[in-house]
This record gives sequence, C-alpha cells and structure tokens, in this order.
Amino acid sequence: DAIVVGSLNMDLVVRTPRHPQPGETLLGRGFDATPGGKGANQAVALARLGANTAMVGRVGDDAYGRALVANLDREGIHHRGVLARPDTETGVAMIQVDDASQNSIVVIPGSNGELSPSDIASADATLGRARLLVCQLEVPLTTVREALARARRHGVTTLLNAAPAMTLPQDVLALVDWLVVNESEAAALSGHPVGHPDDAAQAIRRLRQSGCRQILVTLGAQGVVAADDSGLHHYPAPKVAAVDTTAAGDTFVGGFAAALLRGASVEAAVREGQAAAAIAVTRPGAQASIPHRDELADH
Ligand code: ADP
Repeated sequence: DAIVVGSLNMDLVVRTPRHPQPGETLLGRGFDATPGGKGANQAVALARLGANTAMVGRVGDDAYGRALVANLDREGIHHRGVLARPDTETGVAMIQVDDASQNSIVVIPGSNGELSPSDIASADATLGRARLLVCQLEVPLTTVREALARARRHGVTTLLNAAPAMTLPQDVLALVDWLVVNESEAAALSGHPVGHPDDAAQAIRRLRQSGCRQILVTLGAQGVVAADDSGLHHYPAPKVAAVDTTAAGDTFVGGFAAALLRGASVEAAVREGQAAAAIAVTRPGAQASIPHRDELADH
C-alpha cells in the first residue's frame, strides 16, 4: 500500500486572451475550480494506476477543503489522515492561462503550510502499515523529514519527488530511497544545469554522493534517466502529440510507484510511469488528465 504525505489545493483556473498588465482589467474566457496540489495529484495517480492509497495532509474547515476531501473519497483514497484545520484556509493556486497556453500561477499554501511533524506522529500507524511513502515539497520540510524518518524506522520504502525546486539538506536526502526530479529540480539540488540526458547523468553522480542511491530525472519529451546500483539508463519517452503537460510529473510518479508496489522491475516501472504520463500530456487539465490503469494497455 502507498501513503502520500503532501499538499492539497483547489486550483482556480482563469482563461484569458493574454495576461493583464499591472493595474489592468481584462475580460477572461472562462473559469474552473478543480482539485490539485502535488500531493493530491500523486495520490490520485497512484490510486487510478492500481495502488491502494492513503493520504495525510491538511485542508481548511471551508467549502474548498470539503470539496477536496470529497474528491479523494471519489477516487477511493483513504483520507482519515486529511483533517480540516479551523484556523487556516484551504490551499489555493490561482492559475491564469493565456491563448498561447502560457501559465502564470500564484500559490497560497494555506493549511498545507500547517501540516506539522505531530500530524505525522498521529498518522504513525497508517505509515507503518504502508509499503511505500511518497512525499513532495509543498508542505514544510520539517514535516517531510519527520515522515521520511518514521518510514525508515518502520522499514517503509521512501520516494521523494523533490518539487518544487529547492536545495535540500543532506540528512533529508539520506532518508530517501527513490528521488524523482525534473530538470529544474535536479539542477537546484545538484548545482549542475540539466537539459539533456548527459547533464542528467552528471547531476545524478553528484546527488548520489548525498546517500540517495536511486535517482530518476524526468526530462519531459526526452524521457527519463534512471540510476540505481546496476548503473545508469536512459529511457526515451513515448512519442505523442502533447496538448497540456500539467501533472505529467505527478502522473509519472504515481505510475512508477504503483508499478514498484506490484513488484515490477525498475525498468518496467519507469516504462509504466512514462506510458501513463504520455497519456496525461495528450489531455487537458491536471487530475482530469491522469489515466486509469486499464487505459495503458490500449497505448
Ligand atoms: P514535470 O511535469 O515535473 O516538469 P516532466 O516535464 O519531466 O516533469 O515530465 C514527466 C514525464 O512525463 C516525462 O519523463 C515523460 O515521461 C512524460 N512527458 C512529459 N512531457 C512529455 C511529452 N511532450 N511527450 C511524452 N511524454 C512526456
């Protein structure tokens, strides 16, 4: 079973012909409020791609919070560890998308920023029953560290998707069994620019010195470079006509992790993650674009 410790946001998406100038008022084309946050997106990807999944996180005691919990429920994700805090608002992402598909995004972490190490202690029994912990960096680092450390003590495998990009202390990296990063995250962590499979290999060599042995760098349409004790491998991505790459990384993480939980080899798990992400990029939206496992066979 998988447990995700991470963020839940309501994505408030405004479509506009172009981005407004400071002080300007524009007429937009449409509005949507949809569940998001890297934690929730990865939980949804895990569940749709076949993993029994629980989530630990925080929402506010408000309408968005209730909608986000109801969404987890519809996806079959255990959400007893997602409690509403009365003193903070549910996290939101204000997303503007213009006619050229350029995004500009403001994230208000809200209650995600209040997920605390003691919340992880409260979820210790659920954590101990899991086989894989999946974390990202949209909740406080002290909380991520607590979750990783407790998982280690329980013998639960840990996966960190180190997103959004930031530097991390070595003691956190040393608690990670699987590190999954995109180009900018790999660059931020390693101090080495990454834009190509060859650079990814360089960044991986640096990152492995921190004690994390198994590293996957996702390179968009260029696929994935994976490193483990058997060496370094480049897996090209399936060729598809991408229309919206939102949640590509989240879908990859969910597909990879779900396959690992079924006992797949690293190679098979990377291929499954990439097959799922390749479908997600051909569809608009974040969670709406994440495929179910039975769709993978058709591709
Ligand atoms: P993020 O969304 O975190 O920036 P990437 O852009 O690296 O992550 O995408 C994650 C994975 O999604 C890639 O490794 C690849 O498998 C898949 N992917 C992303 N963009 C494309 C694309 N244009 N064509 C095919 N697969 C893609």
